[in-house]
Amino acid sequence: MEIIHITAECYPVAKAGGLGDVVGALPKYQCKAGHIAKVIMPMYRTAFLYASEWTVDFKGQANLGNWHFDFTIIKEKYNKLGFDLFLVDINGLLDRQKIYGYGDDTERFVAFQIAVVTWMKSWEHRPDIVHCHDYHTGLVPFFMQHCYDFQQLAGIKTIFTIHNAQYQGWMGWEKSRYIPRWDLWKRGMLEWAHSINPLASAVKCAYRVTTVSHSYLQELTSHSNGLEALFEYEKGKCVGILNGIDNEVWNPATDSYLSFHYTAKSVNAGKEQNKALLCSRFGLDPQKPLIVFIGRLVGEKAAELLPDAIAGAIHEMGHAASYLVLGSGEHDVEGRLTDMLMPFSGQFNAVIGYDEGLSHLMYAGADFLLMPSRVEPCGLNQLYAMRYGTVPIVRSTGGLRDTVSDMGDPEGFGIRFNQASVSDIIYSIGRAVHVYQSKDHLTRMRNWMMAIDHSWENTVEQFTRIYQA
Ligand code: ADP
Repeated sequence: MEIIHITAECYPVAKAGGLGDVVGALPKYQCKAGHIAKVIMPMYRTAFLYASEWTVDFKGQANLGNWHFDFTIIKEKYNKLGFDLFLVDINGLLDRQKIYGYGDDTERFVAFQIAVVTWMKSWEHRPDIVHCHDYHTGLVPFFMQHCYDFQQLAGIKTIFTIHNAQYQGWMGWEKSRYIPRWDLWKRGMLEWAHSINPLASAVKCAYRVTTVSHSYLQELTSHSNGLEALFEYEKGKCVGILNGIDNEVWNPATDSYLSFHYTAKSVNAGKEQNKALLCSRFGLDPQKPLIVFIGRLVGEKAAELLPDAIAGAIHEMGHAASYLVLGSGEHDVEGRLTDMLMPFSGQFNAVIGYDEGLSHLMYAGADFLLMPSRVEPCGLNQLYAMRYGTVPIVRSTGGLRDTVSDMGDPEGFGIRFNQASVSDIIYSIGRAVHVYQSKDHLTRMRNWMMAIDHSWENTVEQFTRIYQA
């Protein structure tokens, strides 16, 4: 089958979170399984752009309301990522440093989607599947089915994968002028709660909708930022498919970011070496259990609980553990973590920012990874942690519930808690400190985790079945 993935992120081209990891890996493994998978995304000014060679694939023109724009689609020359990668260049609109966070994100992503369907329309053949990811590409199924200029694409089957339903891309009806000439009778296919809602539109228009874990799909019918009734109504076409992880990128035996490699057999020695490096870099005591947090410092991740939870754990248990945080997000949380650096020096450290290499070293060198998330559609961090023999401490929600078992259960390897609260986190840290004393138990848990297979091959098979259906 020929599958076109349309996305705002794709690792290593541009990544802000899990979406990037997934779209960087899924097409690669689909190609390995014999499909023709391609990715098209905006052309941002990232290191990958400058480090690669490109050919011009298509030049076109389109309108966003009454703004007429030219766009160019370039293709990476050497198939470096294991699939054909296309970037859409719209001068002044997409070619920026960051992926998101601009005042004109609505215009940027709507123009991107119009350029993509215009490009697909120009093809001499039709792909089998158009696979859209998250709200930034959520209008594509509507464009293909209900816009007069793209009627040739109406027969192609569309799949929409929800990596995060919190962000829906709402836009007021005054912006409906951006949508290429459309069948006005189909207004209901764009709308939710009196505005245009690209995520809701995709759920309505796509042939199948997938979410990145089974539990998250269930949760969407009760918590989905206003779309609960829609998910209840459309549940017949929704399926939860757990993300895989790219074992070629995330492998402690070969990881290019690590100086000390290890396998399940050498896990204790390997982790000790990586931990020593990490602790010396951040002024922490390698004898103590090292608990880390990696991720966006936002409410979904319950990041605002971290300062009080870490300070509270140090207050209650003294210097029983060391803590290291890597992340960026809400300024208030960043500020509170930075304020803790001096008073808790030697026990706590934090890096405010995004650092891919450091994240790999933290998965390898930490003993525990904390994820108190309020919402976690799948969660990749815990899967990476498990692959690196790092015990996940997670709140039971979404994909965390589906992938982490509690160490109190037979062959359980993680620490689970129910409430996103300071007291539940401190209690769980206490359990971590306790199990760290029992080296045999810790080693067994590390071995169980590292034996779990979360490879993409499995996931690719599930997507293939949906495409075939
Ligand atoms: P989300 O997509 O909601 O942010 P996921 O758990 O699905 O969360 O994916 C997070 C991905 O982003 C992981 O690969 C994680 O290692 C990475 N990541 C998040 N924040 C940072 C950071 N500050 N530095 C490096 N990597 C990060």
